[in-house]
Amino acid sequence: MSAVRSIADHLFAPLRVQSTDIADLFGVWNHSSQLRRQRRVVLKSRTRLMAALFALLVPLWILPDLLLLDTDHWLPLAGLRVASAVVFMGLAWSRDPGCGRLEALLRVGLLLAVPTVFHLLAAPLLADLDTGGPRGVLLQVYELLPFVVVAGLAVFPLTVLETLLYALPIFFAYLFGAHAGGEFRVAENVGTLWLLLLVTGAAMVSSLSQLQYMIALVRRASADTLTGALNRAAGEETLELLFGMAVARGEPLALMFIDLDRFKSINDNWGHEAGDTVLRAMAGQVRTALRRGDVLVRWGGEEFLVVLADSDVPGARLVIERLRALGLGERPDGTPLTASIGLAERLADRVADWPELIELADRRMYMAKQGGRDRAVLPGQTIVR
Ligand code: GH3
Ligand code: MG
Ligand code: MG
Repeated sequence: MSAVRSIADHLFAPLRVQSTDIADLFGVWNHSSQLRRQRRVVLKSRTRLMAALFALLVPLWILPDLLLLDTDHWLPLAGLRVASAVVFMGLAWSRDPGCGRLEALLRVGLLLAVPTVFHLLAAPLLADLDTGGPRGVLLQVYELLPFVVVAGLAVFPLTVLETLLYALPIFFAYLFGAHAGGEFRVAENVGTLWLLLLVTGAAMVSSLSQLQYMIALVRRASADTLTGALNRAAGEETLELLFGMAVARGEPLALMFIDLDRFKSINDNWGHEAGDTVLRAMAGQVRTALRRGDVLVRWGGEEFLVVLADSDVPGARLVIERLRALGLGERPDGTPLTASIGLAERLADRVADWPELIELADRRMYMAKQGGRDRAVLPGQTIVR
C-alpha cells in the first residue's frame, strides 16, 4: 500500500498546488513566459471553438422566435442574431497574427461581450410581452442568457481576477434586463442573482483548476528535474523573450556563463550520485544570490546560465561578487566548489541577438579557465577573483 502511495506521490507531486502557485491563480503579474505562451494558445483556440459553435447555433433560434412572436419582435431579434453570428464568425475564422500579450484576453472578452450586448438590447424589446403559455418559455430562455454567458467562463483557464472582471459586466447586464420591464421585483431577483453568483463560483472553480493544471504541467516541462533550474529549451525561450524586451526598452541585459571547475573529478572520485548532490546544492546557492526576476538555466551538464534582466556590467559584477562571497557549496572532500564565469552584456558588448551574447560569455568563461579557474572574466577583460 505504501509503495502504491509513494508511486502516486511521485507521479502527482508536480501537479499539486504549491504555495508559489497561489499568486499565479489570482493574477497574471507573476506568470512565467512559458505559462503566458501556453495560456495564450489555449485561450485563443477555445475562443475559436466557442465562437464557431455560437456562429452556428445563434441564428437557429430565429425559428422559434418566428413561430411564437409577432413581426415587431422577431424581426429585430433576428437582426441581432445575424449581427451576433457575423461577429462570432469573425472570431472563429479571423487570421491569427499571433502577437500581442492582451490579444487572447480581448478575444475572450469579445466572445462574452456579444451575448451580453445582445441581452442588453433584447431585454427592452421583450419587456412588454405577457409571460403566459409557450411564449413564456421562450422569454425565459432570453432571461437566462446571462447564466449561459457566466457558465461559459468555465471553458477557459482564467485567474480569479479575470473571472471577476469578465463576470461583472454580465451581472450588470442581468440587472439591466431585470429592470427593463419597469419595476424591479426584489424578492424574485435576489434569488436569481444568488443563482447567478453560484454559477459564477462554479465556473471559477473550473477555470482555476484548469489554470492550476496548466501551471503544474508548464513547470514540469520547463524545469530541470535535478536542479530545479530552467532546462535548456525553456531557457532559450526565456532568453528570446528577455532579449526582445531589453531591445524594445533600450535596457541592458547581462548574461553569466558558469562552468564548474574540475567537476569530472567529483564523479570519478566519489561517484555520480555525489556529483548530483553537489550540482543540486550549487543551484540552491546561486538562487540565494539572485534577485527576483533573475533566471537560472541549466545549459548542460555542469554548465549554467544566469540571465540578469535590466542589469548593466557594474550591476552584474555585484551579483558575481555576492555569489563568490556566498560560495557555490562544497566538494565531497569539504574543499570549496569553484567555477569559471564569463560575463557578457548586450549594450556594453554591442551584440545583436541572444545566441551571440551566449557565445561571448562562453568565450570569456573559457578565458577564465585558461587564466587558472575560480574567477570571472567581464567585458573589457576585467577579472574578478
Ligand atoms: P573544467 O574545470 O575544465 O571545467 O573541468 P571539468 O571536469 O568540470 O570539465 P568537463 O567538461 O570535462 O567535465 C564535466 C563533467 O560533468 C563531465 C560529466 O561527467 C559531468 N556531468 C555532466 N552532467 C552531469 C550530471 O547531471 N551529474 C553528474 N554527476 N555529473 C555530470
Ligand atoms: Mg563543462
Ligand atoms: Mg567544468
